Amino acid sequence: MSHEHDALRPSLRHGRQALSIPGPSVMPDSVLAAMHRPMPNIYEGELVELSMSVLEDLPKVAHTSGTPYITISNGHGAWEMALTNTLCRGDKVLVLESGRFAVVWGEMATQLGLDVEVLLAPDASTAVDVDAVADRLAADTAHEIRAILVVQVDTATSVRNDVEALRAAIDGAGHPALFMVDCIASMGCERYLMDEWGVDVTVAASQKGMMVPPGLGLVWANQRAHDARATADLVTGYWDWNQRNDPAEHYKRYSGTPPIPHLYGMREALDLLLGEGMDQVWARHEILAGAVHAAVQAWSVDDGLGFFIADPAERSFATTTIRTNSIDVDDLRLRAERDAGLVLGLGIGADDPRFRIGHMGHLNPPMLLGTLGTIEAVLTAMDAPMGGSGVAAAAAALAPHL
Ligand SMILES: *Cc1c(COP(=O)(O)O)cnc(C)c1O
Repeated sequence: MSHEHDALRPSLRHGRQALSIPGPSVMPDSVLAAMHRPMPNIYEGELVELSMSVLEDLPKVAHTSGTPYITISNGHGAWEMALTNTLCRGDKVLVLESGRFAVVWGEMATQLGLDVEVLLAPDASTAVDVDAVADRLAADTAHEIRAILVVQVDTATSVRNDVEALRAAIDGAGHPALFMVDCIASMGCERYLMDEWGVDVTVAASQKGMMVPPGLGLVWANQRAHDARATADLVTGYWDWNQRNDPAEHYKRYSGTPPIPHLYGMREALDLLLGEGMDQVWARHEILAGAVHAAVQAWSVDDGLGFFIADPAERSFATTTIRTNSIDVDDLRLRAERDAGLVLGLGIGADDPRFRIGHMGHLNPPMLLGTLGTIEAVLTAMDAPMGGSGVAAAAAALAPHL
């Protein structure tokens, strides 16, 4: 079939566009509706109560008794808040590479004047090597490393790191560095127990598993992180934790006017998440991810599609990166979007052809099977090599849960 758009050929894209990229995710209609409202008084009354209720509930999502902070920014702002409130110029920071995002967080740290060392991943498609972390920390007998930065899930490769095992390695080495985890891709999708796993600072953002449009950064900080705040010299006005805690005027919690529509949206999203229950939310994502993984496994063939992450235990439940090998990935994504109204995530951070399916947030089987079925139809249209039906495999993976 022709690549060109044929005026006589009907396009099937009309209808609700399906967004299957790893953030922003599909927003629940109730979240969008909650945001669409007139502006309230920001000094007292309903908005203040709503804001305090959001701050009270955010720790439940990360399973922590630590303090939550909301920035009016994306995840990059949350990264900056985490670093500047806890560290001093010249401090040594160890970045654990796995895919792309931890390294970019490290680049920000370098710009801030921190001394960044990147512990390189053994391979682009594997999780952080916990033993290598243990060795590096054991070698740091002077405890020069002040903070360790890692992502729970890397959104470029779809690898999931074992945060609990990393904490065990830090403890095994008796190392006092602050442990900071980027959960921007994974919060609200992957099991995450901040306190139990001994994470000192967690960062996230609104637009992925948290199901609120882009615009909020989220930071959770424990007592060790707040102790570090006392000596941190990178802190600047907007990001400063101190002025946000128990201020006389409520707006100071946001260093200015609160992000009102987003707070209403977050209230609704928290009601959805906590109403479902975090254990159920995580289990749902694991099951839905299982369907995606079953589809990719079925499609897989030497010169066609295949998993980017080789080890099944290291595959994220929030997003999946798929190698396309001989299949023209640009054509695949173009046909999906132009002809069928399905937006797939483009490959980032490498030259080898790949695409990504986001399966975070507000998601159920018809949405997911629509995505997988459309991909399969496009592969068929392209005469692409295919092992078997991914849709059949995904349906079979879901069946025990229905
Ligand atoms: C999306 C993402 C980021 C960047 O978040 P922004 O909101 O775009 O700043 C950082 N880290 C991870 C793991 C992500 O998935």
